[in-house]
Amino acid sequence: MTTIGVLALQGGFREHEEMLARLGVATRKVRRAEDLDGLDGLILPGGESTTIRRLASLHGLIEPVRTFAQTHPIWGTCAGLIALANDIGGEAPIFGGLNIRVQRNAFGRQVDSFETAITVPTLDAIASEDERGTPFPAVFIRAPVVEHVGEGVEVLATLEDGRIVAVQQGHVLGTAFHPELTEDTRFHRYFLHMVQSPALA
Ligand code: GLN
Repeated sequence: MTTIGVLALQGGFREHEEMLARLGVATRKVRRAEDLDGLDGLILPGGESTTIRRLASLHGLIEPVRTFAQTHPIWGTCAGLIALANDIGGEAPIFGGLNIRVQRNAFGRQVDSFETAITVPTLDAIASEDERGTPFPAVFIRAPVVEHVGEGVEVLATLEDGRIVAVQQGHVLGTAFHPELTEDTRFHRYFLHMVQSPALA
């Protein structure tokens, strides 16, 4: 049976667990290195990346997650995407593994949070007839953007102004927004599809 871990140090881990439960998938909260044993994939939730950095370090999770991410599907949402980026501007990487540069809090104070419809053609791989081609409701909360993608990184979605908000590099998935805060399960199903496709691992 597939079990997906959700890093549960801080931030929106419960919403990810709830969505996976709705999809009939077993989940496990990851708070210590041992919690990674036997997992098929891992989600890094949104929250505050500086807090996640501090707690992951305190809990001895930096190296174990880094190692896990080299061989298993992993998905970072918002602060989780920041945690996967190899380049966070002036800051040292947290886990790294995704060949991108991100800019934190890219939307400034005026537009702290917003929702917008984006097109994500990749989701058609798992979409039902009704869902196919329909936009995805993307919820942004003090979100980062991907400023630069390096070799091997595929852009999955951009905003209308061209800014990159979803990427994939093999078995590593990153979204600047929060699919777990919507009713649309496509991104979670897409991640499960990655977990179940050994070719990507
Ligand atoms: N602004 C947060 C950070 O820089 C991310 C916000 C979020 O995850 N919703 O870590």
